[in-house]
Amino acid sequence: MSLLLEAEKYVANQSSHIALNAFITPLRRQSGRWYDQVKEADLRGKQGNAKSRLDGRLIAIKDNICTRDIPTTCASRSLETYTSPFNATVVQQLEDAGAIVAGKTNLDEFGMGSASVHSRFGPVKSARKGQDSGPCSAGGSSGGSAVAVATDQCYSALGTDTGGSVRLPAAYTGVVGFKPSYGLLSRWGVIAYANSLDTVGIMAKGTSTVRDVFNVLNQHDPRDPTSLSPSSRFRIVSRLSSRRLATSLKTSPLRIGVPLEYNVSELAPSVRQAWYRSLEYLRQQGHIIQPVSLPTTKRALSAYYILAPAEASSNLAKYDGVRYGTRIEGRSDGPSPDSYLYSKTRGEGFGSEVKRRIMLGAFSLSAHAIDNYFIQAQRIRRLVRQDFDAAFAAEHPLAAETLGTPEHPQQAGVDVLICPTAPSPPPTVSDVANIDAQGNSLDAYVNDVFTVPASLAGLPAISVPVSGKGEVESQNGDDLAGIQIIGQYGDDELVLEVGELLEGHGL
Ligand code: GLN
Repeated sequence: MSLLLEAEKYVANQSSHIALNAFITPLRRQSGRWYDQVKEADLRGKQGNAKSRLDGRLIAIKDNICTRDIPTTCASRSLETYTSPFNATVVQQLEDAGAIVAGKTNLDEFGMGSASVHSRFGPVKSARKGQDSGPCSAGGSSGGSAVAVATDQCYSALGTDTGGSVRLPAAYTGVVGFKPSYGLLSRWGVIAYANSLDTVGIMAKGTSTVRDVFNVLNQHDPRDPTSLSPSSRFRIVSRLSSRRLATSLKTSPLRIGVPLEYNVSELAPSVRQAWYRSLEYLRQQGHIIQPVSLPTTKRALSAYYILAPAEASSNLAKYDGVRYGTRIEGRSDGPSPDSYLYSKTRGEGFGSEVKRRIMLGAFSLSAHAIDNYFIQAQRIRRLVRQDFDAAFAAEHPLAAETLGTPEHPQQAGVDVLICPTAPSPPPTVSDVANIDAQGNSLDAYVNDVFTVPASLAGLPAISVPVSGKGEVESQNGDDLAGIQIIGQYGDDELVLEVGELLEGHGL
């Protein structure tokens, strides 16, 4: 299909799928700019001068990533009218590669949530139907990006993944979602939720498209202080690739780790079946399946829900209606006019989930709680990372001490870990609304149990769709489950390769 026909199809689908609410700002059909840009790219391609593999492709951007000319709302009333004067680095990199912004996608406010229902612009709906024939949840917080990809409203989409927000929606909607190693992709111009965990992630229907986007974005950005320096990148490549020569996917079998702690009794049968099928398939390909233990997994979720809100409460302090955020004017005859302005602005500018996180974070950082909450959670974070380091054959390439060398690797470790992305298939949007109405937010947090450990350790992880049906291939995709592949820090290429292997065989 020509680039132009493909782009027209995406734009037409944005109109026909408007009820799914995947976009906060869709690409306007009547504006011809995208059309001219695709036409120029088409011409470049025909002359053999394509700027990159993304030249002329429509890529949707989650609405917490800044775009010049198009508003960036974070799905929040507090930023409802905000348009950034600049592009985030990742957006600029895409545009420099010839890609075109396909609109801004809906999300949980500021990235906080697991179902894309906490949005000022209403919930995102998946095209998949639940048992009550109502729409399934798209997952969150990058639910809009996932639905846009799943329903062909764009070629690929960017999301952000702090604790699973790219992988969980990918699993729920049956697409591929990749969270690279922390620090590889620039966060400059990405509105912060929890800086030490936030990662830009990539969604597409296939892993090879995800890789094309990753290759464009995987560069040092001097404007982002957490972007890995060129020397660290060089160190990662040289340490891991010398090891990889010994364990090439093509020539020698991989050691695939199965984390025993992920085999919880609450795992839905279709999810367990998809996990089993993936492992069985890889075993048939000659790879070695090996059980591993990640004992701190059980505590990772609690630690995440201390650390992420703590960082969020600090990041969101600036939206006071004075320098940042929509000002919500109120009476000025309160006890103190200023405090009245702040409380009105913040009380009405933020939704309930964001306010819950701010209060949780402010509490766990308070003088009398910090030792028992924040400091303990930091300890658990370190243990989670140690668990992973003990499981992988490759040592952390940026670790100060070397436990093994490429010539003498640590014994018996695994190359990648394979586990489900989420414990259950997607709930319906109405199930999620009921949970919310009962005020039981902990039920929603449980869906992140398998995604937060890799986030706490900054590791690369991808979710690929696998059928959870027994022997019969899925007809309608209803039993698709997301299977997650987690690699050692910096081993992003191997994670993508294994993703491609699993996804490429019609599983
Ligand atoms: N669901 C998790 C949370 O609410 C993860 C969100 C994310 O990755 N942005 O914090």
